[in-house]
Amino acid sequence: MLSTPMSIVDLHCHSTASDGELAPEAVVAEAAAAGVKTLALTDHDTVDGLDAALRATQAHGMRLVPGIEISVTLDRHTLHVLGLGIDPSAPVLRSGLAEVQLKRAARAKAIAAKLERLGVVNALQRAEDMASGGQITRSHFARLLIEAGLVKDTQRAFKRYLGQGRQAYVSSQWAHLPDALEWIHNSGGIAVLAHPFKYPVTRTARHRILKTFKELGGDAIEVCCGTSDANEISEAARDALEFGLAGSIGSDYHGPDQPWAKLGRVAPLPGGVTPIAAMRH
Ligand code: AMP
Ligand code: MN
Ligand code: MN
Ligand code: MN
Repeated sequence: MLSTPMSIVDLHCHSTASDGELAPEAVVAEAAAAGVKTLALTDHDTVDGLDAALRATQAHGMRLVPGIEISVTLDRHTLHVLGLGIDPSAPVLRSGLAEVQLKRAARAKAIAAKLERLGVVNALQRAEDMASGGQITRSHFARLLIEAGLVKDTQRAFKRYLGQGRQAYVSSQWAHLPDALEWIHNSGGIAVLAHPFKYPVTRTARHRILKTFKELGGDAIEVCCGTSDANEISEAARDALEFGLAGSIGSDYHGPDQPWAKLGRVAPLPGGVTPIAAMRH
């Protein structure tokens, strides 16, 4: 496998404000060590890590692009929409996120109830402790399943329990796409459809999603992610041109335990794709 070159721009990663393993300051320190100059912290449905990340990037002489990864439901699909360059204090964004956070808490309770029936003791409290005040995600329940000895690793946790249709899966109606786009744009951000190949949909369905995303005002597609292969990058680049979307790049880093997604390890945007404004430096 050809190794992916390092980039000085990384516009997608996570901290302990959601399901990342490292605190925002530690994420920034890792990014600095990897040579990243422009970093977007994009936690799931929360802006809580951004103050600490901003202070840390200033200390390291880096630029922080304030970001978010919003959970969205479109038809029956769950999509992830990044908001880049948002104002985290914007009231419309904050009240929208508060709604999604309530849904996250309710879903966590329902997942925990299923896990308790499968023999995991005190599941909700343990997941809350793992999230330590951050958003509770399925990644936390995956860690709990490993800790409880029900599975050996994260992949099995999703495959057997947490993935769509599995024993402890709970579906949720996340933000409506037009609402999420409104929250992002109202707060001054750019809306990017994250990791277009991570949705379990056909090519036709992906194109329908991109068409709707564009029609509703979406700005860009994440052309290169930490896990992209060359085929996915060229297909995403074609999609960007076909649907009139700009391109973004980001590792989707979650922590040192996921060696396949490292900060700054993301391919450059292919020629011909318009880079989003946040990539200018
Ligand atoms: P949630 O938004 O709470 O449903 O959790 C989604 C998160 O779970 C994603 O952002 C990933 O970090 C993680 N995730 C989803 N599927 C998998 C998988 N198959 N293996 C590892 N992590 C996964
Ligand atoms: Mn995640
Ligand atoms: Mn995502
Ligand atoms: Mn992500």
